[in-house]
Amino acid sequence: MSEDCLFCKIIDGDIPATKVLENEHVVAFRDIAPKAPVHVLVIPRTHVKDVAAAAAEVPQELAAMALAAQEIADAECGGEFRWVFNTGASAGQSVFHVHGHVLGGTELEWNPA
Ligand code: 5GP
Ligand code: ZN
Repeated sequence: MSEDCLFCKIIDGDIPATKVLENEHVVAFRDIAPKAPVHVLVIPRTHVKDVAAAAAEVPQELAAMALAAQEIADAECGGEFRWVFNTGASAGQSVFHVHGHVLGGTELEWNPA
């Protein structure tokens, strides 16, 4: 838990969110400003800043994030999805508790830059 972290507060229920999946390793909830019909954020329970930190420090939670992303996509968009980790401010990261964006539910274009 990091005191000033929005996503730690969502994990703890101090800030409301529409949660779609929770287990011992991860929490997933709908993005407040969806960019696709399905737009869910998957986060580890441990506060780490980005995907490389997750791989180094909590690899089991990173693996659980991937499984959760697939489970959400199976339930909501036919098992197919895009998984995005904005990493660093210049890449668009605004919350420094690692989160995978699960995007789907439409024909996605490929123009990330
Ligand atoms: P980033 O820009 O760091 O990759 O992604 C952060 C995401 O968190 C954004 O897509 C943004 O819409 C979402 N977000 C920001 N604040 C909240 C919030 O209070 N609740 C939820 N559910 N999503 C949020
Ligand atoms: Zn956090």
